[in-house]
Amino acid sequence: MRTVPIAIGMTVKNNRYKHMKLNNNIEKFESLGNNHIGTSKDTPMRNDAFKLSKEEKIDIIKDDVRHILETLGLDLTDDSLNGTPLRVAKMFVKEIFDGLDPDKKPEASTFENKYKYGEMLVEKNITVYSTCEHHLLPIVGKAHVAYISNGTVVGLSKINRIVDYFAKRPQVQERLTIQIVEELKKVLNTEDVACIIDAKHLCVNSRGIRDIESSTVTSEFGGKFKEKGTRREFLDYIKLETKF
Ligand SMILES: [Zn+2]
Repeated sequence: MRTVPIAIGMTVKNNRYKHMKLNNNIEKFESLGNNHIGTSKDTPMRNDAFKLSKEEKIDIIKDDVRHILETLGLDLTDDSLNGTPLRVAKMFVKEIFDGLDPDKKPEASTFENKYKYGEMLVEKNITVYSTCEHHLLPIVGKAHVAYISNGTVVGLSKINRIVDYFAKRPQVQERLTIQIVEELKKVLNTEDVACIIDAKHLCVNSRGIRDIESSTVTSEFGGKFKEKGTRREFLDYIKLETKF
């Protein structure tokens, strides 16, 4: 009997059964995606993720994008559409999904906290541009990150760069929030790190339910931020209006 792989970790052994199983799986995956439910805290990557060079990836994706557009019935010889497959392929590999490349992780140089500032530091209103991994549509919003130094501090712009690095992936907002906190915990050598993200998902705003007003808030509180008072202080700082 032939074994047909359906998805990683799943096989079926009977052709008649295969159809049922496939339909069940499609329904399951569709409903996970439609409800924006992520399944892991690490970005699910293949073992061979980096076997191809970026140029090789662009070359393959370019043909795939062309295939999608042609299947939709578009005439790719039109001057306006002719460059789209290559443009989209480059944008995927070198811009909006560049954070899949571990070499692009910002080097977070840390410093000794010489002036012994032991209070909370909040970097707020960090712009988030990411992509929903269920619909490949933009997620746009703000991240607010806080930490309490235990002797190590990090350059302020590094926090923005860390947010941007993890945002440049197909993402689930909950995972993005956790990944930012976990990375900063490592860099700063403390558990006392927190992140709140408030973002609009274009897959909710522009299609499906088409609710332009709704946004999604996710939070991850580590160490002292699990305590009510510390958490309150962080939330109060975020509410402060910054005017220049
Ligand atoms: Zn989505």
